[in-house]
Amino acid sequence: MAEQAYCVKCKKKVDVKNAEKVTMKNGRPALKGVCSECGTGVYKILSKK
Ligand SMILES: [Zn+2]
Repeated sequence: MAEQAYCVKCKKKVDVKNAEKVTMKNGRPALKGVCSECGTGVYKILSKK
């Protein structure tokens, strides 16, 4: 299952390669990975309700 995140280089939502769930300093969950199209690192904040 591919996660999606916004890539600043492609300027669109892309599939995330090597997606990894991380927790930011403020305790919010985020998704870290690599754009499957250009290889740029992408980062997505997961909104948890
Ligand atoms: Zn990209």
